[in-house]
Amino acid sequence: MIPYGKQEITQQDIDAVVDVLHSDFLTQGPQVPVFEKSLTDFTGAKHALAVNSATSALHIACLALGLGDGDVLWTTPITFVASANCGLYCGSKVDFVDIDPTTYNLCPTKLEKKLIAAKANGQLPKIVVPVHLCGQSCDMKAIYALGKEYNFKIIEDASHAIGGRYHDKPIGLCEYSDITVFSFHPVKIVTTAEGGAALTNSDILAEKMALYRSHGITRDPSKMVGVSHGGWYYQQVELGYNYRMTDLQAALGVSQMKRLGRFVASRHCLAQRYNKLLEGLPVVTPFQLKNTYSGLHLYVIRLKLDEISKSHEQVFNELRENGIGVNLHYIPVHSQPYYQNKGFKLGDFPESERYYQEAISLPMFHIMTEEQQSTVVSILKAVLGSVK
Ligand SMILES: *Cc1c(COP(=O)(O)O)cnc(C)c1O
Repeated sequence: MIPYGKQEITQQDIDAVVDVLHSDFLTQGPQVPVFEKSLTDFTGAKHALAVNSATSALHIACLALGLGDGDVLWTTPITFVASANCGLYCGSKVDFVDIDPTTYNLCPTKLEKKLIAAKANGQLPKIVVPVHLCGQSCDMKAIYALGKEYNFKIIEDASHAIGGRYHDKPIGLCEYSDITVFSFHPVKIVTTAEGGAALTNSDILAEKMALYRSHGITRDPSKMVGVSHGGWYYQQVELGYNYRMTDLQAALGVSQMKRLGRFVASRHCLAQRYNKLLEGLPVVTPFQLKNTYSGLHLYVIRLKLDEISKSHEQVFNELRENGIGVNLHYIPVHSQPYYQNKGFKLGDFPESERYYQEAISLPMFHIMTEEQQSTVVSILKAVLGSVK
């Protein structure tokens, strides 16, 4: 099976992890700050907090922004469930904004319409979570301008987008957001096995997220209530979690970050080659916005079903049966049973639902060979078969 995503682990990566195993610290040692520095160096953000997953990063980001009971968080239906669940973790309500039919990202025009209606109902969101689907940035300038006008905070879910750029600046810089989140799961671009990070330019948000990452405990006497009892003393000043990244993971991340530029460049070569090879087939290839450079975590095509004699499901299953590890990103979150039980219905976000009926993620990973890619395309051609 040619997988849809796969990590690259080199001897240097392995040596970096083994070095940590031989060291004094498996966790809470020197590698986590080194990894965090590699993230701030790369993106230009002031602070990076490494955590054990992007899901945890989204949670502490929401907590730091003060999301709670009675508040509302909005995101896109076309994302992994974690982008929405982080709002529920904080006891807030979650709602969605439908996607743009060209980029499949949260649509700023629909966002504005929904904000106008929400203002009239007195239910404006406290946080909006734009997701840079497949690695291509959302229209952050438009979303940021709406954030100023309607007074909401912004968390960029950039789980797909490390190494990407927006208006020629690195995604993660947080120029148009309060916090940006990355994922380092092995199918993503850079991996630490499990892992994530939250980046921000705000000293206050960084300090809060550091507390939530580690039990709400501080060892800094200046942050304590009253005076320290002595050198052993710490205080719990918030309800936090254990969301820490280990030094083993961070060392892998440091080693991987050195190759990030190459990872993304290689994905761009593959995407351009796909674009060429798929010409003339009854599929829509990914749209590339002018002012963005995608991280290209995913390469999603949409089937032109009115030109194909098979169903979406048939095409998908036949690709799998023929060794092509296609996937589908994503099942609209509002259609999940858990969210249906919260009152969402099919038909609520028609553009997302239409996308779901046509989308297929083709294999895309930086160590994919041209031979593997040619196999994907020739099997896809065969499966699409006699075009109507
Ligand atoms: C993968 C992913 C997450 C969750 O990442 P983890 O590191 O697995 O917690 C969140 N949002 C999006 C868009 C993702 O793709």
